[in-house]
Amino acid sequence: MTATATALRPITGLAFDNSYARLGEPFGVRVVPTPLPDPVLVHFNADAAQLIDLDPSEAARPEFLRCASGAAAIPGSDPVAMLYAGHQFGVFVPQLGDGRAILLGEVVNRRGERWDLHLKGSGPTPFSRGFDGRSVLRSAIREYLCGEALHALGIPTTRALCIVGSPEPVRRETVETAAAIIRMAPTHVRIGSFEVFASRGQKDYLRRLADYTIELHFPALSGLDDRHARLLETVARRTASLMAQWQAVGFTHGVMNTDNFSITGLTLDYGPYAFMEAFDSGFIPNHSDPDGRYAYDQQPAIGQWNVSALAQALLPLMPREQAVAAFDAYVPAWEEAYARVMRAKLGLETAQPGDDALLDELLTLMQAARADWSITWRALGGMTLAGDTDSRAFASQFADRAGCDAWMSRYRARLRAESSDDARRRARMDAVNPKYVLRTWMAHEAITAAQAGDRTAIDRLLRTLRSPFEEQPGNESWATGAPAGTGTIELSCSS
Ligand code: AMP
Ligand code: MG
Repeated sequence: MTATATALRPITGLAFDNSYARLGEPFGVRVVPTPLPDPVLVHFNADAAQLIDLDPSEAARPEFLRCASGAAAIPGSDPVAMLYAGHQFGVFVPQLGDGRAILLGEVVNRRGERWDLHLKGSGPTPFSRGFDGRSVLRSAIREYLCGEALHALGIPTTRALCIVGSPEPVRRETVETAAAIIRMAPTHVRIGSFEVFASRGQKDYLRRLADYTIELHFPALSGLDDRHARLLETVARRTASLMAQWQAVGFTHGVMNTDNFSITGLTLDYGPYAFMEAFDSGFIPNHSDPDGRYAYDQQPAIGQWNVSALAQALLPLMPREQAVAAFDAYVPAWEEAYARVMRAKLGLETAQPGDDALLDELLTLMQAARADWSITWRALGGMTLAGDTDSRAFASQFADRAGCDAWMSRYRARLRAESSDDARRRARMDAVNPKYVLRTWMAHEAITAAQAGDRTAIDRLLRTLRSPFEEQPGNESWATGAPAGTGTIELSCSS
């Protein structure tokens, strides 16, 4: 038998190692999913299937749908609802936990990588707090699409293996239909997973979870005396880097509660997120966040706030000075990462005094003009040193032509100062300034089509989002604002 033949497995033959379930209670509570009635496979992600060595042809088998809809247990899985707490909009909630999701188990692939299979929308658990335990098709599609979009942009995120739909009615602002996704990540342990034990004064559980997390996900720290501080420092650095990556592409998460913040620094829990279109530094994607706690320009500070919540939770495991020093890694890591990503967006190869001002001036112009975040950056890459017509796409974003011209001449002078080459700079800039991002109206179109039974729209959109930096002739309408007539799409926490 060849290596490839042995590598791909049926859904009934995945290689599970359920380390989290083995932690036992109270880390998780064993539960069985409540099956979705009359399930249909809305989408299957062959790319994600590869990560768990799953044969993509399994998508066509009824057994796969039974497993993904919660009707049958996947052999080798050991489903648990994970316990966690969290700060929601700054207020501590002592117990949350998987109220509508279940960790089915962890698959270890042939490369030794561990992937949680986490079924979201799988019915009530002991942590449901009276809610229905379901997700709606709209939010399942939004989570699925955005995971793929961010992944293609090189930003750490959960992925989704599939979407399963059902005619089961689910009441939100209106009555919608139910759906579930199987999402995947190296772990679904989050900041709130530590906060729950810290707030209960359960130091032994806290230490066990920290050591478990280190052993599986930060093995380089394993066995070190100061491993808990090093864990905190690593999370601080990764979170800072994630914030810089979000800011660079204009991604706003919407609900940056500590229960939605991964211990590995990946993007977790897609609710009322949005890729910003018209630039507004105070952009708020979530209509349930009127004060803008999680506005675009607040994200880096909230990332730091969340790391401070983790520091507070881990404090019983280390001397105070160690915790402070580890936490203090956040700001320089953020500054370094943000400077680096923005320098790349500007196409600058070196760091020079005055670069911060150059960026600030551009952002001020963009803010005043409500310039489209993605279009403006992409167009900047097309500018040439000598050119004139090349700058039209960029200039068209600004009503203040004099301000724009003045900025462009300062920018060109800055480029000349490092002998920038037009063609090479454009190639570098096109590789970091995406042409295609998941605009809210695009997700909405795919959702509306899927709700009417047309699932091909999701496919088409995914194909585009998977190559965000390519020009993709014929798909240009997806690199623009909403078509005329598209009303405002309100996003709220309801999902
Ligand atoms: P989220 O806003 O989706 O991050 O969820 C916050 C908390 O509420 C988590 O503990 C979820 O499991 C729980 N939750 C959200 N929606 C539901 C629902 N429909 N049924 C049960 N629990 C839910
Ligand atoms: Mg959540």
